[in-house]
Amino acid sequence: MTRWRYAAATDTGVVRETNQDAIFADDILALVADGMGGHAAGEVAAAITIELVRDEFHKRPTVEGLYMAIEAANRTILADARDNSERFGMGTTVIAVGLTRGNDGVVSPTLFNVGDSRAYQVRDGALRLLSEDHSVAEEWVRMGRLTPEEAKVHPRRHQLTRALGIEEELEIDVVSLNALPGDRILLCSDGLSNELSNETLAQLASSPTPLKDSVDHLVAEANQCGGHDNISVILLEFDEVSVATTEIKRTVSTRPPPVVQGSLATSSHVSKRPRRFTWRVWAGTALFALVLVGGVLVVHWYAYSTYYIGNDAGTMAIYQGQPNGVLWFKPHKVFDTTFPVAQLLPSDQKALDSTISEPTLADALKYATHIRNMWRVHQSVLHAATTTTTTINGVTTTTVKKTTG
Ligand code: MG
Repeated sequence: MTRWRYAAATDTGVVRETNQDAIFADDILALVADGMGGHAAGEVAAAITIELVRDEFHKRPTVEGLYMAIEAANRTILADARDNSERFGMGTTVIAVGLTRGNDGVVSPTLFNVGDSRAYQVRDGALRLLSEDHSVAEEWVRMGRLTPEEAKVHPRRHQLTRALGIEEELEIDVVSLNALPGDRILLCSDGLSNELSNETLAQLASSPTPLKDSVDHLVAEANQCGGHDNISVILLEFDEVSVATTEIKRTVSTRPPPVVQGSLATSSHVSKRPRRFTWRVWAGTALFALVLVGGVLVVHWYAYSTYYIGNDAGTMAIYQGQPNGVLWFKPHKVFDTTFPVAQLLPSDQKALDSTISEPTLADALKYATHIRNMWRVHQSVLHAATTTTTTINGVTTTTVKKTTG
């Protein structure tokens, strides 16, 4: 048997004119919702959440039941905002602790969180934060981009990264809590946690006064410190715990969680459903394909942007491409001169071995013609020479002499 006693209070605060927070607490469930949205829309979102989660969890007091209840609240808020344009953009945080019944019949406390309302454990006078804020500044702290001190004054500390009423896809943090008799759990909206230091929270939440008095002291102190926002507080104290469960911590991630066999209680971080292909995914895929095709076209252009004269098995030929090829784009022969390389001047043969590059096919043809003509000129000079053969004492000597003029 697991039982708790509870006390709860919600207050408009000093600065705000209305209270858009909503709370609920009984023997098996404690809920805080901090609504947002103009024209009282935040109140509507918070009220929808409290009523729906309370009713659904009472029908099905399990981890799955509480999860489905929060999911249903999200869908209902979205549908209400679609039907009532004056409430467009309304949303709410939700933090809940339910005494959930497992398949084995054991009842244990489970925490659910979306947004920046908070849950603390108070044990032996010490305070420990059980939840993680889903705000831009706090996400950055977890990523190491900000220190906790910087986050407290950062302009985006109030900008939520998750809330009910934003989109159909909803990620909910789920933590199986470890509780001992005498432990207290403090649930609150940010109107409390923003006003009071951890030391003050610990001192007031653990004071050995009746729970109701502790709650009232917390609200009064937050108002004393400025009361800039609506203030909601629920304090639970465990009288009896059937079994001290091991706390399963969540992992903060925007990726879909791994598929876990069995109860959701074994999963510390659950997502509403497998992610579908959204326009962002399609746009990303299309952009990647464009970049890929663009890259291939550039490489193709570079690979075939030049010509060179080479030796094709003893014949002078013209190739298009880079001599050694680029990636899988190899050079190919575009013109065969049928002229034997062996008949070129030695210097041209040597130049041919190291390939002669030209920017266009016309230039390559022009140069090939040039080196072939050079060989012809050389031959005509040779043929124009005078050959003299003399035999002295049986030894024949041949002399080649160029004619002049
Ligand atoms: Mg608030």
